[in-house]
Amino acid sequence: MNKEKKLPIIEIKKEWCKGCDICVDYCPTDVLAMNGLYAEVVNLEACTSCGLCEVRCPDFAITVTKPDSKSKK
Ligand code: SF4
Ligand code: SF4
Repeated sequence: MNKEKKLPIIEIKKEWCKGCDICVDYCPTDVLAMNGLYAEVVNLEACTSCGLCEVRCPDFAITVTKPDSKSKK
């Protein structure tokens, strides 16, 4: 079932996130949303691994791992 579509892994470090909302703004597919003070993933299925949130976050709080980047070969 979960083999049908490989999803990226998005890690948001709450300790580093200052809730600036930039990642939410930049994500073209609305994967992220603010949850009070922090950003959180609300729609991982829509993530295209574009990496925009990762490069735009001023606090390096987001890491996006593409689904194929740790393929088993
Ligand atoms: S990698 Fe791209 S699509 Fe995925 S959450 Fe970040 S900005 Fe959105
Ligand atoms: S851009 Fe970074 S610091 Fe700003 S809300 Fe997103 S994760 Fe938090």
